[in-house]
Parts: sequence; C-alpha cells; structure tokens
Amino acid sequence: MTVGNMESAQLFDAGNKGRGLRATKELRAGEVVFAEPSFSAVVFDSLATQVCHSCFRRQAKLHRCAQCNFAHYCDRTCQTACWDEHKQECAAIKKMGKWPGENVRLAARTLWCIHKDTGIVSDSQLVSVDHLEAHVADLPKETSAAQGGCDTFLEYCSYGRSSLPSTTSHTSMELTLSDQRGLQAVGVGLFPNLGLVNHDCWPNCSVILNHGNQSAVSSALHSQRRIELRAAGHISEGEELTVSYVDFLNLSTGRQKKLQERFHFQCSCEQCSEHVKDDLMTAAAESEGNKPSADKVKEVTAFSKECVEKIERLRAEKDYHEVVRLCRDCLEKQENVLADTHLYVLRVLSVASEVLSYLQSFSEAAGYARRMVEGYMKLYNPNNAQLGLAIMRAGVAHWHAGQIEVGHGFICRAVAILMVTHGPNHPITRDLESMRMQTEMELKMFKQKECVYHATRDAALMKQRLLKRKQRT
Ligand SMILES: [Zn+2]
Ligand SMILES: [Zn+2]
Ligand SMILES: [Zn+2]
Repeated sequence: MTVGNMESAQLFDAGNKGRGLRATKELRAGEVVFAEPSFSAVVFDSLATQVCHSCFRRQAKLHRCAQCNFAHYCDRTCQTACWDEHKQECAAIKKMGKWPGENVRLAARTLWCIHKDTGIVSDSQLVSVDHLEAHVADLPKETSAAQGGCDTFLEYCSYGRSSLPSTTSHTSMELTLSDQRGLQAVGVGLFPNLGLVNHDCWPNCSVILNHGNQSAVSSALHSQRRIELRAAGHISEGEELTVSYVDFLNLSTGRQKKLQERFHFQCSCEQCSEHVKDDLMTAAAESEGNKPSADKVKEVTAFSKECVEKIERLRAEKDYHEVVRLCRDCLEKQENVLADTHLYVLRVLSVASEVLSYLQSFSEAAGYARRMVEGYMKLYNPNNAQLGLAIMRAGVAHWHAGQIEVGHGFICRAVAILMVTHGPNHPITRDLESMRMQTEMELKMFKQKECVYHATRDAALMKQRLLKRKQRT
C-alpha cells in the first residue's frame, strides 16, 4: 500500500516484529522518507506556563487562556490555531478546577480527537485512528500511580466525550518534542506513521522534529510539531526502514532493558545479540602496554557510576561550579584506568564540556569536547544526530577559545552530518551554516593578518641587517 506523500515507503509483514515499513525505491542519505504532523501533543506539566501550547516555542511572555487559566499561547494566531484541539480540554479543566498530568492530557486529547473524526486522519496517513485508540487505552494504566489513578482519567475524559476505547494492540509512536532549537524537551506528541517504523539499535533512518520556519509566525510554514523520517545512509529498494527509539550510547543490556520497559519488546537486533561495541564502552585504558589491574578498573567504574549520578543531580540543581569540580575529580580518577570510549568517561566529558561552555571557560571545554568527539566517533553511526551535535559543540568551544582553524574544521564536519540528519532547512542546521561562514571569514582574516605580520617582520629584519651592514662599513 502506498498512500499520499508516503510514496517512498510501504507497509509489509516484518516477521516476528509484526508490521513494518520498507523502501519502495532507492534512497540517498538525507532524503526525507516521509513527514507527518503529530496526531496530538501536549506541553510538559513543568513548562505549561513557559511554552506555547500551540507551536511549542519557548517565549518570555505568553498569553493565558481566559477560560481554563491553564493553556498559554504566543498570541491570538496560536490560540485560534489550537482551539479545536484545546476546546474539550479547556472545558474539562474548567469543570475539574485542576489539570491532570501530561500523559493523561495527551491520552484525553487523542481520544477526543478520535471520536470527533471518523476513521482516516488524512489520506496521507497509513494508519487509521482506530489503531491509535488501543495505545491511548494503555496510557492511563501505565501512569495511573503517578497521575492519581484511572478514575481521574475517566472523570476528566467524560467532561469532553464519554465512550472509551476497547481494542488491545497498539501502533502509534510517542515522541518527546523539543523546543525550536532542539535543545530542551518541552512536550510529548503522538505520531501514527512513525509508529510503523520498527526499531533497530543501528538504524538506517533518523527521525527529527522540524517546526518549520520560525520567523513566519502566521504563514503555512509555521507548522506545528512536524517530524521527518530521513534516510541516514544509502537504502536499497525493498530494505526495511528502521529508527532507534533509544540512544545507542548504552550497553546492549541497558538498551534492551529500556526498550522492554518503555516499548514492551525484546530487542534482537544485530548490535544487541552480538553485543557489538559493548567491549569499547567498558574498556580499560591502555598506555604503552600498561594495563590497570581488574580490581582498579572495578573500583574506578563503581566510583564513576556514583559520581555521574551526583553530577546529573547537581546539574539539575544548576550548581554548575560543583558540577565542574566533580567532573574534574572524576576524570582524574579515570585517567589511565578507563579508556576514552568508556561510557562513564564519555558521560563526564559530555557534561564537563557543556557546563564549561556555559560558564564561558572555552579552552577547558574545548579539550573535553575534543576527547568526547573522538570517543563518539568510535561508537556512533557516522550519520548519527547525537554525534553531529557533539561535533558542533566541540566546534563552537574551539572557536570561542580562539582556536579558529580547529573550530572551523569541527563545524564543517558537523554541517555534513546535520545536512543528513536534520536537513538544510532545520533551524539548527541554519545556525551551524552561519557559524561555518563566520569561522571561514575569521580564518581568512586571521591568515591575512598573519601574512601582513610576517611581511612587516621580514621588512624589519631586513632593515636591521642593512643597518648592521652599514655600521660595519
Ligand atoms: Zn505559539
Ligand atoms: Zn482553555
Ligand atoms: Zn538492539
């Protein structure tokens, strides 16, 4: 079956994985396989007053919905665009006098939406909304403890529509939504077609949120919560399309555990069943044939685990100076014991480079970012979005530290990856492209200055020599 804009993909029976999508034609790296808007989406509870409930942008000043006092919008355009989605939610919140958590809100929004429509959401989508209902039925169960129970959900829903779904299998894909720069998770959305793309820890596609042109607020380009599935490399006709639901930077057992907990399946991809790269992610350092003892490795690993947890906690509390102190301490203990591809070393390097950049200690940040990128290169797929963003961070840190040539090199490499994973129109790619041009210009100016400097120095030396010769004669 090929429908609408999904001409590059079709449904097929993927054996024990159930249904899957496969390519109907050869795809090149960076090609968009399909794009789709979210079926429904909600802003996280914690950011409900800081992020627009319509376009998911973070704004300093938002206008509150006068009916429910809960929803916030950039302006009237955003509010009007979102009213159809918010209408029932607004009534329910008003009647209850409080708002339920994000999972319940998402489930309810989806339900109300399903009962409003009749079957196919749009002809470009492969899945009818009936399949979505089942997933929604799962949601309140999963979150009942945290959200105050099913009763709340039923009560809340009943204020919008009454009947509840009863089917059992689920297909839709829940995805965390990030702000316009892709830096902070701000909400969660439901994407029906994305749910058809099976998981693989070493996938041939990547999924990216692209909210469109951020300066065109009221135009059609100001799209909401749109995702793109992009080919991460060459894909042959008939090949199954896969994405990774989890970050690759975990041991195979860790990824399997996460996938089991969150998506209820056992990953049997090649990377997991062969434990590919687990050895690198737990490797001990080796310098000039000197290997640390097994006990030492064990001790430092345990110390690092504890330290990483502490660092994460302190970072959440924004105690950045303490974070930096702990990072330095941990890296010192890890030196000559754990390899630079070890997960705990990479975690610390990542936080250290990020926080030090934030604190504008660019030289130190650059050193850590460089080590991090070297480790990532050995672990990640060459066209992985996380790798691209890490290289970008290394580039910016070197640039700001005054190492323009190295910085420019990193930035160029990051552009090449993000052109594939994010595409040329994504706001991050655009930012990066302007940094590439800026560093290129600075580099040229720097080289020119160097030429002038050499020329003046040569001239001065010549003059001195001439003077000396004159004195001698
Ligand atoms: Zn908005
Ligand atoms: Zn409202
Ligand atoms: Zn796997």
